[in-house]
Amino acid sequence: MTVIKEETVLLKNYIDGEWVDARGTETLEVPNPATGELLARVPISSKEDVDLAVSAAKTAFKAWKYTPVPKRARILYKYHHLLSENHEKLAKLVVKENGKAYKEAYGEVQRGIECVEFAAGAPTLMMGETLSNIAEDIDSEMFRYPHGVVGGITPFNFPMMVPLWMFPLAIACGNTFVLKPSERTPILANELARLFTQAGAPNGVLNIVHGAHDVVNGLLEHEDVKAISFVGSKPVAKYVYERAAANGKRVQALSGAKNHHIVMPDADIEKAVSHIISSSFGSAGQRCMACSAVVVVGNGDEFVHTLKQRADDLIMGNGLDEDVLLTPLIRDSHRTKVLECIEKGLEEGASLVRDGRKEIDQLKEGNFLGPTIFDHVNPDMMIAKDEIFAPVLSLLRAKNLDEALEYIHKSRYGNGATIYTKDAKAVRQFREEADAGMLGINVGVPATMAFFPFSGWKDSFYGDLHVNGKDGVNFYTRKKMITSRYDY
Ligand code: NAD
Repeated sequence: MTVIKEETVLLKNYIDGEWVDARGTETLEVPNPATGELLARVPISSKEDVDLAVSAAKTAFKAWKYTPVPKRARILYKYHHLLSENHEKLAKLVVKENGKAYKEAYGEVQRGIECVEFAAGAPTLMMGETLSNIAEDIDSEMFRYPHGVVGGITPFNFPMMVPLWMFPLAIACGNTFVLKPSERTPILANELARLFTQAGAPNGVLNIVHGAHDVVNGLLEHEDVKAISFVGSKPVAKYVYERAAANGKRVQALSGAKNHHIVMPDADIEKAVSHIISSSFGSAGQRCMACSAVVVVGNGDEFVHTLKQRADDLIMGNGLDEDVLLTPLIRDSHRTKVLECIEKGLEEGASLVRDGRKEIDQLKEGNFLGPTIFDHVNPDMMIAKDEIFAPVLSLLRAKNLDEALEYIHKSRYGNGATIYTKDAKAVRQFREEADAGMLGINVGVPATMAFFPFSGWKDSFYGDLHVNGKDGVNFYTRKKMITSRYDY
């Protein structure tokens, strides 16, 4: 139930350095997922709002592309400082609008700050390549140039980190940016823009347009938007990739996931369970790197028993309360879909080791669901194949590592996968054969840091160049080759 306060803020768009009302008249509520308290209303902007933002970004690009790279980098240093100074405040805001636990939110802010740290290395990152004497008296040089206006579309689950995967690096590379944050967690984006301006970013370099599909389509169709960075669910990622590419834009679309963790017979059960509990149930399973399927190799009875015990001990509640690990789902409508998936799992013949539905009534104001664990899941069942994005974990049984790897091969997704073992040979086989882009060896959430690419495979990513690292620099720049003859 949403508790409405009279003074609830209607968020504004940020265009050309001004906080402006959206032209679109529709609005949506932004409730706190743990309490139902209405935090703000978000405008559902129109294509006209997108046009205004793109036009401001296009104008700003004229000067920004000529702003010396070290000067651009200095704004990012200042931004880094301001974000660090506001670390706790930003983390509390993440908890309020997203619902995750404070510790997780604090970590998310840290990950975001690290992206700014990386982008501040722009003078080195933007360097080109040269080769003298490619032929007699002829040299070749490669320079990097920005594209122009870049659009970014982000999901609800990392309202701080995912926008920071995009705009600091894009802008450091000389582009200007229009961000469309998730309409379910839009508040933090305005704070990010406010601090960016305080750091010295000129008007129009970063713009924010709140809303939903009209804004997305506006960006995908706008001829002045040259590149699109997207993070979200599979159907939307595929759609964005196809539309943006059809319209001649460079595009990177990070998509959904189903991450398998293999528990080998020699694994340290206590440690593996700790990692899996935190990976599967932290942020209520709403992480693209969450463990959502465990493949237990050999007799897994001790593992399953320990896992259930630890899940029973989890504290569910408001992310601002200490010791809470299990936080709410983003919306009640999402929980309804999750409950349908649980029903489907039972219909398909999987057995519930732990039924989190029993805990729904404990905290009625929020969208809570207790840890839910299915055992004896078959790889062809929906609960083994589809992303549920909730604290719902599927356990599959395998005779050996070959069979466990087969389950991973069968998955349409390939974001992450982990193995728990002390056996070097098993590690090597897993590393060579698991077809996912981010692997963990005894690591519960093998998410990469800002200086490496966030490198999902298969249907977890559409495009070529990933976000972050050198891939990110290559994505946000285009190369110009100069061939010079000196025989005059
Ligand atoms: P979502 O796809 O519902 O929304 C993402 C963005 O797309 C939002 O800004 C939303 O407004 C927009 N959107 C939604 N429906 C649209 C439509 N029909 N047309 C145009 N735009 C539309 O995703 P979400 O629920 O906010 O986020 C969770 C998803 O994101 C999960 O699937 C998760 O795995 C994925 N994710 C992936 C990564 C990764 O690195 N691969 C990282 C974080 C989240």
